[in-house]
Amino acid sequence: MRVPLIAGNWKMYKDVNESVEFVTTLKNIFKDVPEDKVEIAVCPPFTNLKVVNDVIKGTNIKLGAQNLYPKQEGAFTGEISPLMLRALGVHYVIIGHSERRQYFNETNEFINEKVKVALNYGLFPILCVGEKLKEREEGKTFDVVKDHITGGLKDIPKDKIIYITIAYEPVWAIGTGKNATPEQAEEVHKYIRSLIKDMYDENIAQKVRIQYGGSVKPENVKSLMSMENIDGALVGGASLKVDSFEKIVKFYE
Ligand code: PEP
Repeated sequence: MRVPLIAGNWKMYKDVNESVEFVTTLKNIFKDVPEDKVEIAVCPPFTNLKVVNDVIKGTNIKLGAQNLYPKQEGAFTGEISPLMLRALGVHYVIIGHSERRQYFNETNEFINEKVKVALNYGLFPILCVGEKLKEREEGKTFDVVKDHITGGLKDIPKDKIIYITIAYEPVWAIGTGKNATPEQAEEVHKYIRSLIKDMYDENIAQKVRIQYGGSVKPENVKSLMSMENIDGALVGGASLKVDSFEKIVKFYE
């Protein structure tokens, strides 16, 4: 019912030439991946969106951006608007990644504004939520996740919520090699689905995709994906190499 979404977040890696070479290979190895089994996306740096789109256009790989600025245009030096992303063929946009929250002080309010603007411009947000290690240790995981979900989805109407993918990314598992166990992840995913049910209804809660992110690797992807409420993965480090990203995308084999 919910087709899993495997999205590669390249962060600030790969230049133009490396990006073209990489997606040219991906296009071939993923050409037989059935779209009803898994949806694939890559999220390169802004500078590489155009060349990547030129390679993957018309294939089963969708294009994602890693951020946006929530204005159509204006005097915002160094920022990129949703309209500019649309013009480059962008489909998904990652919003509220923990690195944005941590290094760029992004708040729930700002993230919520970005989600709304992305939707208004026909982009599909991937909203990242998740607790830090200290918060988990202090037993605050559900509180933090609730704050991120209710803040990030504030005033998003019923007819728009299904265009949003939630990515549960425990901060302590991102880029650390320490992934949440499938059971730990499932517990939070189930909780997120219950929050969506409370905010909207059961039918909508069953439709919204909730990805897991945090050191997803070929070795752990199958067990994570076997969980009822885990609908794909947002993959950082392991999405940068053909071999590991291929195995993650083809987890169903
Ligand atoms: C991420 O950047 O969203 C991420 C989950 O990174 P990694 O897979 O490297 O932990």
